Amino acid sequence: MKGRCFALKKTQIFNKTLAALLCVMLTLAFALPLQASAEGTAAGTPLKIGVFADRCPVFYPDPDTGEVIGIGADIMRTAAGEAGYAVIFMQVEEPTLKEALDNTAYDLVMPFGSAIDSASGRPTVITDSLLETPFTLVTYGKRDLTSFSNLRVGIPRSLSGAAETIRQIYPGIIINVYETIPECVSALRSAKVDALLNNSYVWSYILQKPSYSDLVLQPSSMFSLDFCAGAIDTPDNRDLIKKLNRGIAKLDETKVHAIILDYSTRRLYHYDLSDYLHLYWAFALLCILFFALLAVIAVQKMRTVRKEQDELMKKLIYEDPLTGGLSMHGFRKRAEELLKEHPDTPYLILYANIKNFKFINDSLGKPAGDELLRYWADKINEILRENETMCRLEGDHFVMLRCIDDKVRLEQEYTEVINSVRTFFIDRGKENRVQICSGIYVLTPEDYRNIDLDHMIDLARVAEKRLRNTFKKEGFEFYNPDQWEKGKRNLDIISHLPVAMKSGEIQVWYQPQVNFDTGEIIGAEALCRWKHATLGWISPAEFIPALEETGMIHKLDFFVWDKVCQDLHRWNEQGRRRSISVNLSRFDIMADKAIPEHFCELIKKYDLTPDQLRIEITETIYVEDPDVLISTTEKLRGYGFKVEMDDFGSGYSSLNMLKDVDVDRIKLDLHFLTTSGDPQKCRTIIRYVVKMIHSLGMEMIAEGVETDDQAKFLLSKKCAEMQGYYFYKPMSVDDFEQIGQKLPSHP
Ligand code: C2E
Ligand code: MG
Ligand code: MG
Repeated sequence: MKGRCFALKKTQIFNKTLAALLCVMLTLAFALPLQASAEGTAAGTPLKIGVFADRCPVFYPDPDTGEVIGIGADIMRTAAGEAGYAVIFMQVEEPTLKEALDNTAYDLVMPFGSAIDSASGRPTVITDSLLETPFTLVTYGKRDLTSFSNLRVGIPRSLSGAAETIRQIYPGIIINVYETIPECVSALRSAKVDALLNNSYVWSYILQKPSYSDLVLQPSSMFSLDFCAGAIDTPDNRDLIKKLNRGIAKLDETKVHAIILDYSTRRLYHYDLSDYLHLYWAFALLCILFFALLAVIAVQKMRTVRKEQDELMKKLIYEDPLTGGLSMHGFRKRAEELLKEHPDTPYLILYANIKNFKFINDSLGKPAGDELLRYWADKINEILRENETMCRLEGDHFVMLRCIDDKVRLEQEYTEVINSVRTFFIDRGKENRVQICSGIYVLTPEDYRNIDLDHMIDLARVAEKRLRNTFKKEGFEFYNPDQWEKGKRNLDIISHLPVAMKSGEIQVWYQPQVNFDTGEIIGAEALCRWKHATLGWISPAEFIPALEETGMIHKLDFFVWDKVCQDLHRWNEQGRRRSISVNLSRFDIMADKAIPEHFCELIKKYDLTPDQLRIEITETIYVEDPDVLISTTEKLRGYGFKVEMDDFGSGYSSLNMLKDVDVDRIKLDLHFLTTSGDPQKCRTIIRYVVKMIHSLGMEMIAEGVETDDQAKFLLSKKCAEMQGYYFYKPMSVDDFEQIGQKLPSHP
């Protein structure tokens, strides 16, 4: 051991090291890597020397060959060469030098600052110092280190051999060993140690790492350690060391300095990714942001392009390039939407065609023809409403979906447009008169259920063809004139309903219901009557379906139910309590699912009991929408109302429904059973139906009883409750109030 006192040698070592470090700084940028000299084999087998190769530039593996090179390696190789030995450097596998000493694979191990015992406790023999190695401390940020006493110093494990030597020189020092340099640095940064210790040459390499720029070299705390090779103390090793010492003595100081200078000036430290990131993080961040921005812009751009393409496609598919209006596809889509949105609005399809368009094109030229088509499209667009649409089907064929809410308006507008198109060329100083033929198809309720626009257009086209093939030159023709007439009449009915309810045109009549056995009047069915201001008496068979089709039946029914409850209230006040049957349409339930609650409000409003209202639900409704009907029936009965299945026998699944739904009374429709077929068979059917209803424990009433025979037959089969012309026809409320409590024939 040849450790020197910190105070004595400090200045001399400092000067040497400073010179070396200065050289590193000056030549780092220009230095070219120098190849280590080849192995010499002066005497016998080369000496195997174990070293830690993690301390560049003292010992480190050549990046190209993997061979251990460095200041220490070169000086040792020179000294051994002087002594007549060739050497091979091997990377020590053991964690410490002490353990490496016990490994017989190495002839020598280095570097040692002083002789230490091996891990197994055997003494060692070491060479003279090859070099005075400067050691110095590094701190985190600037620190003033005045003394080594109690100083906590961190070193990497590979340097732990030197720890013993250092403790001998500075007894007060506390040395913490870490596995790697990065662990040492993080211990320093987290103040677990006050400083890190390492060979100054090694620091000159390590501190080139950009992220260690916060570490400060402390030249003032520099000291030197000897740099020796050693082996287990044996006679052979003593002999070997002796011979090596002779070589070491011959070491030329200039050559040693040249080796140090050579390695110190090599550009040994190579930046890795983390170094570049540390150096250029702001730039990297900017780049990432820039590329992210580029990506966002690209995505946006792609979206915009796609949107534009979609729109272009849509335009191509749904737009007519000539008129700028809808294409056939566009029309079909829009028309379907309208029919779904307005299932209660009566519509027609109008198909129009210029009869002499070919002649116009030939005589005036195609551009003139195109101009006419554009003009026509503009004119149609001027009259169309929100809930109407049109398109140019092809060539000179236009098709429109128009709403029949006002037939006068429709006719006026049609004439207006056709007239201006007809005189298009005449108004522009030419002689050609445009002839237009139109075909009209009026939509039926079925068309709203199964929307098939192509079919509807075809039918309008058939009407147009029919017209074109006649001697008439222009005008319009209906495919289904009956539907048009019906539509027009329905329009009159529907549009007049609000006024009719206020003006008293609509009245509630009552048809009494009797018990033929006792002769008692047991109630009545409320039936609506309408004396239209212009059309006269209209049958419920006409206005009820018209109102159902247009979704207005609930308005009428709410009116009727209110009127019935008013009458019931009045009769209650007069001490003549009655029960009245009212009709409930399935469209009422569709329009307002809270029908049961509506009835509750009514009886509350007029202070009635729920059993005073019998609600007739047509049997066919149970077949069409059983779930809704069953739940409505259950609710109504739950609130205490009586529910009756109307028109039993007229539908298709009466028997099936009987098992699924609970009603209070079955209303057997005699009309359907007696109008056709063998009367004898009808009687048999009625007999068994009555029996069955009784067996199911339900009440029943027969309606449509017209003859004495029928009444007696029913009574004989124990169906006593009846309603029909045989007893009473439906009558006004005044007449109904006049009849007594009993049938006149039953005193
Ligand atoms: P419905 O409920 O089955 O009513 C019985 C229908 O039979 C009534 O026709 C009635 O006048 C008729 N009728 C009664 N006795 C006889 C008879 O002995 N022989 C014949 N041939 N017919 C008889 P109306 O008043 O023309 O009503 C027809 C249908 O219109 C009703 O059938 C009912 O479904 C519906 N209706 C009537 N008023 C209303 C109402 O205010 N609201 C609803 N939603 N529907 C109603
Ligand atoms: Mg009825
Ligand atoms: Mg009925």
